[in-house]
Amino acid sequence: MRLPERVTICEVGPRDGLQNDAKVLEPDVRAELVNRLAEAGVPRIEAVSFVNPARVPQMAGAEEVVAGLERREGVIYAGLVLNEKGYDRLAQTGLDEVHFAFAATETFNQRNQNATVEESLQAAEQIIGRAHADGIRATATIGVSFGCPFEGRVDSGKVLAFAEHLSACGSDEIVFADTIGVAVPSQVREMVSKALPRMQGKPVGLHLHNTRNTGFVNAYAAVEAGASVIDASIGGIGGCPFAPRATGNIATEDLAYMCHGEGIETGIDLDELIRVSEWLAELLGRQLDGQVYRAGAFAPVSG
Ligand code: ZN
Repeated sequence: MRLPERVTICEVGPRDGLQNDAKVLEPDVRAELVNRLAEAGVPRIEAVSFVNPARVPQMAGAEEVVAGLERREGVIYAGLVLNEKGYDRLAQTGLDEVHFAFAATETFNQRNQNATVEESLQAAEQIIGRAHADGIRATATIGVSFGCPFEGRVDSGKVLAFAEHLSACGSDEIVFADTIGVAVPSQVREMVSKALPRMQGKPVGLHLHNTRNTGFVNAYAAVEAGASVIDASIGGIGGCPFAPRATGNIATEDLAYMCHGEGIETGIDLDELIRVSEWLAELLGRQLDGQVYRAGAFAPVSG
């Protein structure tokens, strides 16, 4: 298989990473993180999530974060929502893109969004329609696409049917999330290659956690199979509130290093990005999981 010339790395550290961190950062600091990431050339950033701050205090003040963004040209600034209430808030902020997320299993979806899968699919349809009327790009992320902490293995046929349905509802992109980091490359390859022909030419993405150290090889398999968007978090920060021993997403700088070495453009300045990781490690007061920021970029450094 041939590798693509370019892949879009979507940075989810300010959202997926920080929402699972014990340290709560103020909105102005979170805005600064997003601004530093944009300055390093990250093309798309999930900057905030519009969820109930009583449930997720780390994400409080999403509007303030957005107000603090420098909005660099060419960078897509996105926000995550789980329901229409979240979208009501996002629509007021002027963000470029909405990421709607739900889970493929009833138990996880009930616990995470307090809704049945059917209710979430209906919400997705509403949100996609409203986003398009508002001139906002809409993507849909299917959580626990490969495995659920409550229900175990997830049937890929069921997940693909959700993807096809959401694409038919107008979603501009479908992202399969390995929320608890259980997938292996053959599963990722199969999901992407079966999804692509059903997506009317729309991009397919992967959201990968490195919980069992398969995150990077899964990213490679995904790209090789035709996925064009990969979520990653700076320094590999993050976890999962329902999987206490889960680790974060694959680290953005480690993914960028691999892509550049394989001749895949990301638009990211790796040296700059490493400096963002160093800054964040200092801020969080601990070493991060990412390895490239500790080892150094070696070569090549840009792409
Ligand atoms: Zn995640």
